[in-house]
Amino acid sequence: MGLLSRLGRDSRLLRIATYGEPVLREKAIPITEVTEEIRELAEKMTTTMYENETRGIGLAAPQVGVSLRLVVIDTSSDEPPPPNASPGELLLEPRMPLVLVNPEITGVSAATSVYHEACLSIPELSGDVVRPVTVRLKTQLLDGEVVEIECGGLLGRCLQHELDHLDGIMFVDRMDEEDRAEIAEDLRILERQAKKRLSKGRR
Ligand SMILES: [Zn+2]
Repeated sequence: MGLLSRLGRDSRLLRIATYGEPVLREKAIPITEVTEEIRELAEKMTTTMYENETRGIGLAAPQVGVSLRLVVIDTSSDEPPPPNASPGELLLEPRMPLVLVNPEITGVSAATSVYHEACLSIPELSGDVVRPVTVRLKTQLLDGEVVEIECGGLLGRCLQHELDHLDGIMFVDRMDEEDRAEIAEDLRILERQAKKRLSKGRR
């Protein structure tokens, strides 16, 4: 697949696209077949998520410059699950890191909550985002298994953030106007840096 030729096959880590790079604003395309290339991409994304300077809990393919509907996620922790853990947390977190192929959100709770989000593609910035507390996730896993399950907690939050990336949406788009105004200048700086890098042909 031509898209993947830009990955640099020998490097273990992938470069993370930062705010201002057009790939982060594209609508990613569905994966039609889980090929060896897709598995390799997922593996490198997982390594990149773990070994980034700030360890990530999720990474979407557009964040490594590949406009495909693929997400890696690890919201598991050493703590036992809380008594109110959702079915998705109970089922999926023991199996993490998990690779989600063509994931979709098929339903959301009416209840919302605020959480302070950050993103590997927007270094050093963070902000409060209001989102539904739980979502219904439908996704294919790498082995072809399809799961559809209610996800809450950090998993529900992370899924919404990562799936947004597949539609070119970033968490700063969902911040309230006042909060976003406060980081607007920092975003402009990131954007300028990205443009500069791209014009030098280094993506
Ligand atoms: Zn992100």
